[in-house]
Amino acid sequence: MKKCLVIGGGFAGLSSAVYLSDKNHKVTLLEASPKLGGRAYSIYDSKLNRSYDNGQHIIMGCYNETLRFISTINSSHLLEIPDSLSINFIKKGGEIFPLRSPKEKYPFNLLTALLNYKAISLKSRLKIIDFFLDLLCCYSCDLKDKTVIEWMKDQKQTEEAIDFFWSILVVGALNTTIEKASAAVFAEILKRIFFDGTQSSTIILSKVGLSDLYVKPSVDFILNNGNEIKLSERIIKIEFEGNRVLKVISEKSSYDDFDYVISAIPSYAISKIFQSSENYYHNLPSLNYGTILNIHLWLNQNPFTERFYGFLDGKIHWVFNHGDHISITISAADQYNDKSEEEILNIIYSDLEIFFPIFISNLVKDFRVIKEKRATFIPDISSLELRKEISTQFENLILAGDWINTKLPSTIESAVMSGRLAAESID
Ligand SMILES: Cc1cc2nc3c(=O)[nH]c(=O)nc-3n(C[C@H](O)[C@H](O)[C@H](O)COP(=O)(O)OP(=O)(O)OC[C@H]3O[C@@H](n4cnc5c(N)ncnc54)[C@H](O)[C@@H]3O)c2cc1C
Repeated sequence: MKKCLVIGGGFAGLSSAVYLSDKNHKVTLLEASPKLGGRAYSIYDSKLNRSYDNGQHIIMGCYNETLRFISTINSSHLLEIPDSLSINFIKKGGEIFPLRSPKEKYPFNLLTALLNYKAISLKSRLKIIDFFLDLLCCYSCDLKDKTVIEWMKDQKQTEEAIDFFWSILVVGALNTTIEKASAAVFAEILKRIFFDGTQSSTIILSKVGLSDLYVKPSVDFILNNGNEIKLSERIIKIEFEGNRVLKVISEKSSYDDFDYVISAIPSYAISKIFQSSENYYHNLPSLNYGTILNIHLWLNQNPFTERFYGFLDGKIHWVFNHGDHISITISAADQYNDKSEEEILNIIYSDLEIFFPIFISNLVKDFRVIKEKRATFIPDISSLELRKEISTQFENLILAGDWINTKLPSTIESAVMSGRLAAESID
């Protein structure tokens, strides 16, 4: 049994604390904010007397680490797990173009899904299939100096395939544009989503808010194993001696009775607290972060029939239907950072009216606009060099967080994988 301090209570910190608890280590989790969940949390709004998430979080069927973690904390029954890929894309005017894999054997079902994706011409669909066949044969392709758009152009993808297929995947999965995204990171997730069986390409949603899905169950798991969690405990300094962490100092107290420290905080928070004459984190160049915008609308009447919709060539990217309300996601949304709520609502209403002629803004009785300005780091080419491994030059310091070098983009899956690896690195 080792004594472990985990700093940060997002997906990475909670998963590492859960796995450490499971291995009977003694864990103290220290979280700066009064709530757990980091960038994936639920808000209780007393004015509305309702809870909602800071933003819709999608779990892909290929998120093996996340699904294992959710199962460990006994929350699998709270997920809606479909049998196969099914997305309703919508064009201006309201025409729906499903991307749906039929009940055929993998990979023929995905091939059929692409062939039937009539939002684009047959020529473009065949180009996309050609692209996937090429990717299948080039597992070791060197893409590290390429952006996605350069890769697409090399692969002779049509403008239509880029606009109505690839761009949507990139902005949804990487929270950035096709011009900025690293081809190497995109290739990694394409392989995980499409080359690993039918289940991998499914989109899994939670039946409940993020707090009920993973925060409360993780807390129960950690506490029931005799461990502790301290909220509003911001770490302000870590002191080193030689190649070891000696002391962890918070605004309220200090800790020196531990075998290991796991830092599960974002990269930009690290340089503020890691202080040592020769430490390389002090001048760690920051990863760039991007905004995700979420707008929750409560409606007098809900005219939306599907569980979610992907928008083709809209300002909105996704609409999720929660029955009592809808949530709207705009990724790569930095241009909205300085816009007022009113300006944002006008943009949203106008898009909804164009895509869903049945929608009128009079249906809206309540709304909330949430700008997450540092939602994810941007997986651009420069990020490939900046991401760190879990082990450090300090023998009792381990790093976790979605920004660790998991090869995955800034996602729940990357955060949970780092948390699991960090926990497993302690004997
Ligand atoms: C709106 C939105 C939508 C998203 N959608 C998706 C999605 O659909 N699918 C997906 O896979 N991912 C999605 N993501 C990304 C996903 O939420 C993140 O990748 C993941 O939550 C990161 O987890 P983490 O534990 O690495 O970091 P964080 O969640 O940032 O957790 C770090 C924690 O450390 C704490 N901390 C920081 N400094 C200190 C300190 N000095 N002392 C103590 N504690 C400290 C913070 O308060 C925080 O709680 C989305 C993110 C947002 C914001």
